[in-house]
Amino acid sequence: MVLEVIVDISTAEIDRPFDYEGDDVPLGSRVAVEFARRNTVGFVVGKKEKSDFPTLKRARYLDTPVNAEQLSLMNGMRSKYNLRHIDVLRLFVPAKLREERDPEFKRIFLTAADGMDEEAVAVALKRAPRQREALEFLKKSGGEYLSVLAERFGAGAVNGLREKGYAEESAVHETRVPLSTLSGERRKVTLTHDQQTAVDAITGGKGVFLLHGVTGSGKTEVYMTVIERMLAAGKTAIMLVPEIALTPQILGLFRARFGDLVALMHSGLNAGERYDEWKRLKDGSAKIAVGPRSAVFAPLENIGVIIIDEEHDSSYVSESNPRYDAKEVAKMRAAQCGAALVLGSATPDMESYLNATEGRYTLLTLKNRIAAYQLPEMEIVDMVQEFRYGNRSLFSEALRDAIGAALGRKEQVILFLNRRGFASFVMCKACGWVAKCEDCDVSLTYHKSENVLKCHCCGKRYHALAKCPVCGSTEIKQGKTGTEKVAEELKAMFPDARVLRMDNDTTSRKDSYFRILSEFAAGNADVLVGTQMIAKGHDFPNVTLVGILEADAALYFSDYRSSERTFQLITQVAGRAGRADKKGRVILQTYSPRHYVFRFGRTYDYEGFWRKEINTRMVTKFPPFTKVVRVLIAAEDEQQAVDSTRSIYRALLATEEKTGKFVYIGAARSPVTRMHGLTRYQVLMRLQPEVFERIMPEIYALTAEFKPQKGSCFAEINPQSLI
Ligand code: ADP
Ligand code: ZN
Ligand code: ZN
Repeated sequence: MVLEVIVDISTAEIDRPFDYEGDDVPLGSRVAVEFARRNTVGFVVGKKEKSDFPTLKRARYLDTPVNAEQLSLMNGMRSKYNLRHIDVLRLFVPAKLREERDPEFKRIFLTAADGMDEEAVAVALKRAPRQREALEFLKKSGGEYLSVLAERFGAGAVNGLREKGYAEESAVHETRVPLSTLSGERRKVTLTHDQQTAVDAITGGKGVFLLHGVTGSGKTEVYMTVIERMLAAGKTAIMLVPEIALTPQILGLFRARFGDLVALMHSGLNAGERYDEWKRLKDGSAKIAVGPRSAVFAPLENIGVIIIDEEHDSSYVSESNPRYDAKEVAKMRAAQCGAALVLGSATPDMESYLNATEGRYTLLTLKNRIAAYQLPEMEIVDMVQEFRYGNRSLFSEALRDAIGAALGRKEQVILFLNRRGFASFVMCKACGWVAKCEDCDVSLTYHKSENVLKCHCCGKRYHALAKCPVCGSTEIKQGKTGTEKVAEELKAMFPDARVLRMDNDTTSRKDSYFRILSEFAAGNADVLVGTQMIAKGHDFPNVTLVGILEADAALYFSDYRSSERTFQLITQVAGRAGRADKKGRVILQTYSPRHYVFRFGRTYDYEGFWRKEINTRMVTKFPPFTKVVRVLIAAEDEQQAVDSTRSIYRALLATEEKTGKFVYIGAARSPVTRMHGLTRYQVLMRLQPEVFERIMPEIYALTAEFKPQKGSCFAEINPQSLI
């Protein structure tokens, strides 16, 4: 039998099936093969009687990790997103199963060494970015197999770390069920009428359901009841949650309800743990896969329902290779399996709600918060007025008073600010020079605790500056990060308040994210100051006040989604206040109090907001009425980037003239003109939906033509950010 095998090597040149001689094994089987004098593994994607080649090497059968249904999903993804075979296959197969090629590496498991002097390490690895990345990864993941590390960061980097003693071998954990100690209490509830209607519709129907309900309206209860019914009918379930919302709380709830039938697929697990969870799903001992977007690839059979919580969340879109939208993949998979797809949100994506109002999805609404819980009252404070009255602080008077009152009642406070709006840059007051990353053309951020400047784009670190490199002035403004500034002002106003900070800087260490949240939940702090991270799904019954500082920060990005994002954010943050029996209050500070986002946001009027916003999108011809497509061209050689941008642009311009179905097309430098040492250009366009499917293959073909020595070229659909 001739087997068509995709070899586990990712380059454009060998991304096609190769013929091997082998037994008649199922499609999706993993085989050991020799390729270019290397031993590696491959995956069988086709079978035939005869090959055009006279002599074939043999493929040895190992196992069958991918089933036919997954293969067909894979093919759908490949044509939709123009992905390589092997890149998609790797999404379905845990890293540990791909180690056959280096048997001697197989059992070596590395962890970051204990008790390192962080500063010494930073100095030693100053000129070794790959090693730094690998070490960061080890710290975060808690360990990884040598072969996996070597593939990801290069063997040189990994060996460098071992030689310096920063990474060491360790016995592989034999833990079977990660986080199995977590358990929440199992509360017996009687579903409300709305909940019951939703459960009945989902379990009795087919297609896509949009479950719309504010935080605390009982969506999670609906999900769990639906899953329970599916299990009873002998089916399985996938539940996707935003990466950041995988809190002990939701895991605890699921464990309490379903015990070991739940498998967790999370990037925080090490390779061994991930493999174990994968295997429990594969062999049927676990029937519910819970995890971030990658859980959509779970090796389950007989899927009854796929649930996507917080369906509007941008983390469902993969923005690096392989690029895909897990929501669309879930839709394909659900359709393929005849499973129901449930999209849940307090603030559905514009397009999802449009689909629901036009009957393509079934709309299910949970109108009220459960019983006694009320939505907190939201107060809008005009910061322009505050400024006029001479208040130069980050806090309005109203917010300051409210914090004081809450602290006096021994209740907790959450202060939320938008990271992007607050990213502080380093500037010379004398000549206006701004410190930027050499590789990325983005301004550097000062980190007080480490006294360094960091590039948030590539992670590169720079010495803090004593004087301006251009004019020599010592008048350098080194701003603090937003949360630092807020925490400091807070300390000055309320010296006795116990303040916790949570942002990218305080949570870079493994577990610190969970730790900070647990500390706050346990009442070991009075105020939690944080960025986007605290906006998601946590339940703190003692929080009665939420302050939103700089609510506008997300509003003025030249992104058609700014208003939508801002509405989502304030609704979500507000959902943190008053979940239990205490009434909550939200104070939102803004410089544009009359903006419609806040007008509708104040009363949590999603529908009102949606109607206004969808109308704007229709008039201005933005998604969901068109598709935004960006072709990004990045190259070390500027001229090469310019030339290829020009030729791609010209080709597409011809298509636009032919079809007349482009709303817009333009070519320019990208907003961030350099990143990771590459010059970046882009061709940006908006296409009418009716030609989109037809034109994408042409765009993909154009991107494939550009093969710079150093650089890349790819197309993105409705990109989440346009930097
Ligand atoms: P959401 O997922 O929409 O934020 P949850 O499902 O977490 O809402 O419900 C919020 C709270 O209400 C939870 O503490 C949950 O246990 C409780 N709850 C949900 N449904 C009911 C019900 N039918 N009766 C009583 N309490 C409920
Ligand atoms: Zn200067
Ligand atoms: Zn950089």
